[in-house]
Amino acid sequence: MEEKSKPSFYVTTPIYYVNDVPHIGHAYTTIIADALARYQRLSGRRVYFLTGTDEHGQKIERAAAEKGLKPKELADRVVVRFKELWRKLNISYDYFIRTTEDFHERGVQKIFKQLLDRGDIYKGTYQGWYCVSEENFLSEDVPLEAEGYKICPDCGRRATLLEEESYFFRLSAYQQPLLDFYAANPGFVRPQSRMNEVVSFVRQGLKDLSITRTSVRWGIPVPGDPGHTIYVWFDALHNYVTGAGYDWNQELFQTFWPADVHLIGKDILRFHAIFWPAFLMAAGFPLPRTVFGHGWWLKDETKMSKSKGNVLDPSLILEQVGPDALRYFLLREVPVGLDGSFSHEGFVQRINSDLANDLGNLVQRTLTMVLNYFDGEIPSPGEETEPDRQLAKRFAETASRVYAYYDDYALNRALEEIWVFLNLTNKYLADQEPWKIARQPEARNRLARILYQAVCAIRGSSYLIYPVMPETAEKIWNFIGEKAKPGQVSKSVLAFYDLAAGTRISKPEALFPRIDLREFIGEVEKPKAPSEIAPKPEVKMDYITYEEFKKMDLRVARVLAAERVPGTSKLLKLQIDLGTEKRQIVAGVADTYQPEELVGKEFIVIANLQPAVIRGVESQGMLLAAEVDGKATIPFFDRELPPGAKVK
Ligand SMILES: [Zn+2]
Repeated sequence: MEEKSKPSFYVTTPIYYVNDVPHIGHAYTTIIADALARYQRLSGRRVYFLTGTDEHGQKIERAAAEKGLKPKELADRVVVRFKELWRKLNISYDYFIRTTEDFHERGVQKIFKQLLDRGDIYKGTYQGWYCVSEENFLSEDVPLEAEGYKICPDCGRRATLLEEESYFFRLSAYQQPLLDFYAANPGFVRPQSRMNEVVSFVRQGLKDLSITRTSVRWGIPVPGDPGHTIYVWFDALHNYVTGAGYDWNQELFQTFWPADVHLIGKDILRFHAIFWPAFLMAAGFPLPRTVFGHGWWLKDETKMSKSKGNVLDPSLILEQVGPDALRYFLLREVPVGLDGSFSHEGFVQRINSDLANDLGNLVQRTLTMVLNYFDGEIPSPGEETEPDRQLAKRFAETASRVYAYYDDYALNRALEEIWVFLNLTNKYLADQEPWKIARQPEARNRLARILYQAVCAIRGSSYLIYPVMPETAEKIWNFIGEKAKPGQVSKSVLAFYDLAAGTRISKPEALFPRIDLREFIGEVEKPKAPSEIAPKPEVKMDYITYEEFKKMDLRVARVLAAERVPGTSKLLKLQIDLGTEKRQIVAGVADTYQPEELVGKEFIVIANLQPAVIRGVESQGMLLAAEVDGKATIPFFDRELPPGAKVK
């Protein structure tokens, strides 16, 4: 489909606004981007995958103030949540841009200044509907009420018409250049239906765009006129160039700009398909190849929104099924351009039938036969018969179709093709009946061939699912004794029969245990506290009563002597003074402390812990220490205390 592809591939997600915590919509866009990035790496292209956060604007300023934080502090906390989710979902982004980074702010100011000098930005008067309660202009999209005024969509109050000084981008001058560009690049906006929307919008005429506000403080100041703040969209959209090295890494920028695909939700299509190319034309940058607007995820046919309280929390689903099942479901269920409906029933059914049955059972069954019949070694294949040749041929056809779909961003079609092939492999086994042939000693060569074919099919199809399910593909390759990881093998060298006989396989663990629908719903729909933005991922607490706590006899102990426990690297044997008595304890702190530096120090021990023998040494109590990355750190007191003093 691509007329010409460059040896590099640059894919972006929108930058996510930090007044929100990550939800399934963010996860969806980012998973699509990750699958495309992983596939393009297999294709041998240099890939740059950019995601990040949009951190400016009045909503952030206000949300932070409500929590008693500075806007940047609020952003820092939300960024942790996004990065944590991307780690759990195996998102392989190359850079996470934040619009509060210096190089971004400088880049935006530089471009602003250039456009100002060229006359594409000018100072004028903005007239708009202003919400006094929120001190904010309403979006232009808010419709006029019949009575001739607008209602603020955030608070429901009546807005007033106000004027303020503002800088404008001369969008009206770009109507014809944009129409010419769309005509020459009909694939610029995908899917096609959205291209048509954009063209008809632009044909109706374009008004100049107000791109600064005086009422907003939290943002990038206009260079030379700091009473004006650059408005969120002009700031945010430029992340795609600043994040790719504009004005700070020339080599990076040369290699990757223009972007191959901006993935976006359809709600922000106008900004990306009209404003963005116009900004780029004005600044003299080449234009991105594709803006891909994906659909919404609906929950049981209803659009998810915070106000409806039906937003799915991807981390709860992840805890239940792992990253790959979620990645698979979201990419398989609907074509990238259309809306999808999430139902727990649909989700569980997909996992059980496609992943547990079709894929998981195939791997389990085949490898178990290799273990049982060939002692866990991939057998040297006997003669190739017609059904074997057919299977290999079908794989080659499948692979080329799958690659074409991946190239065309048709991820659900790629997965459909792979599943057709998996079912073909299941049918091959059912037809060849290796479990029957295993009972005929004279047919051992045939048995070897069938199992060899089946392992080849598993290896090949798991390579094809790697962009969507990287963890699963790696596990399967690991089971079959492949030394390489699928992500390291270029698709140009991947071949069906590239499997070495004699390789040892390992006992496969269940890849996708079947899910019980009722249990699943119970786990993912647990009532939650309101979406409080916590500084760290929440830790589950089991409370104990004060009575239970009081049972612990915590005392100040002073170290009299310390030595290593022979034959161990971590353990120290300590003689301690507990005031009324002397004792010996064993502590796993030798990674952090030399025996001699502890002598004379005081810390807390649990004195009434049941004595234990550790590595042959008796321990009559336990000291308290924090453990980070396997290393213990002992909390010491900031003054000397009498040994035996009670801690409570
Ligand atoms: Zn309002």
